[in-house]
Amino acid sequence: MNIPITSFPRIIIIGGGFAGIALAKKLSKQEVQVVLLDKNNYHNFQPLLYQVSTGGLEPDSIAYPIRKVLKDFPNFHFRLADVTEVDTKSNTVITDIGNLKFDYLVVASGSKTNYFGNTDVEKYSMAMKTIPQSLNLRSLILENFEDALLTSDLNERNALMNFVIVGGGPTGVELAGALAEIKKGILPKDYPDLDTRSVQINVIQSSDCILKGMSAKASQKAEDFLEKLGVHVWKNIRVTNYDGKTVTTNTDLTFEAATVVWAAGVKGAIIKGLDAKEFVTRGNRLLVNEFNQVKGYTHIFAIGDIACVENNDFPNGLPMMAQPAIQQGKQLGNNMLLLIEGKPMKPFVYKDKGAMATIGRNKAVVDLPKFKFQGAFAWYVWMFVHLFFLIGFRNRMVVFINWVYNYVRFDREARLIIRPFKKKRKV
Ligand SMILES: Cc1cc2nc3c(=O)[nH]c(=O)nc-3n(C[C@H](O)[C@H](O)[C@H](O)COP(=O)(O)OP(=O)(O)OC[C@H]3O[C@@H](n4cnc5c(N)ncnc54)[C@H](O)[C@@H]3O)c2cc1C
Repeated sequence: MNIPITSFPRIIIIGGGFAGIALAKKLSKQEVQVVLLDKNNYHNFQPLLYQVSTGGLEPDSIAYPIRKVLKDFPNFHFRLADVTEVDTKSNTVITDIGNLKFDYLVVASGSKTNYFGNTDVEKYSMAMKTIPQSLNLRSLILENFEDALLTSDLNERNALMNFVIVGGGPTGVELAGALAEIKKGILPKDYPDLDTRSVQINVIQSSDCILKGMSAKASQKAEDFLEKLGVHVWKNIRVTNYDGKTVTTNTDLTFEAATVVWAAGVKGAIIKGLDAKEFVTRGNRLLVNEFNQVKGYTHIFAIGDIACVENNDFPNGLPMMAQPAIQQGKQLGNNMLLLIEGKPMKPFVYKDKGAMATIGRNKAVVDLPKFKFQGAFAWYVWMFVHLFFLIGFRNRMVVFINWVYNYVRFDREARLIIRPFKKKRKV
């Protein structure tokens, strides 16, 4: 891997997401050698992926080179590597570009889409967890409209214009809202020869409310906003399969749809070697103590989505969101320095800063610890917070200018099929 040998302890971080970057920044300019490994050379700002999928933003504006984030840090090394295994006996990380020994290891590998073992759904539905997946979805949506224009088969045309989003969490809600705005504002102009009123947008939620982690008010308001935009919200319905053509559910309800987006859950991105039953807990996450140490180890840590810190306030672990990941990364940075100096570490305490989701133009819901509000002001707050947390001045500027442009022009100009997506067909 071409990493120099120094007298400093070597800390390997797996993953340059919210958690890994926050940790690496804390360890900058300290007497430690930091090696950050990621299979991508960029940090992916996942909360805005749905805008890439719906042509609101270019992918470059929500991605940022990891090397650039940490370019001024001495003793810091980034390697583009897929970590395939951790050998805990020899303290070695095994990757597709070679092996590397560590003194301390931090797993910040995030999460991946959870299909709950349904291989058909995994094969035929679309996920939206990475930038390539979002670009695939963008292409598929646009290709389906192009195909709908050509077919004379009414059933096929309806299926091409039928969108099913499985999961009524923030991802599903935000994507549905964006699609509804495309239906209303863009499709009639782009496809004057297609009856775009037949476009159907369906959100299927297995429980009795959408945005389950938020307040009842936020959930109800989000549902009202979606319905106002013409989105069908189906509650208490569980999708049982999708074979590439038909979505089946645990009721008599079925949907013929060419685009099904699976936003029904994520699970920890576990790495081989750290997959023992005694510390892999619910959601496929690594069970850690209050110092983020993986159960049974003092020198192996986990932070972010992959880590499950169980406490009385969060018996199922902290929510898989950016804030817990950032806070854990920062805290672990301080703790690792204390540990190396032989001082006692401080337990991690999560400060809940609230949650928010946007449904569309002037429509968002915000739950802060002390205030809850919905509507246009919430939408401005949502935009400000997302701009603030984006990495890189250029990205912030580009996103801001795009949003202003889209707002004024009722437009989304990145509706481009740059890399055509070949949808798997049922054979
Ligand atoms: C569509 C979507 C919308 C979201 N919206 C919100 C939101 O509005 N608000 C919010 O708070 N949260 C949101 N989240 C959740 C939030 O993005 C995650 O909780 C957060 O990214 C977790 O940070 P992390 O550092 O743990 O993992 P990630 O940010 O996922 O980073 C993990 C990193 O590890 C790398 N990696 C994984 N495995 C390996 C390996 N084997 N080898 C090398 N590298 C590896 C990955 O490439 C990635 O860079 C959203 C998530 C999605 C998918």
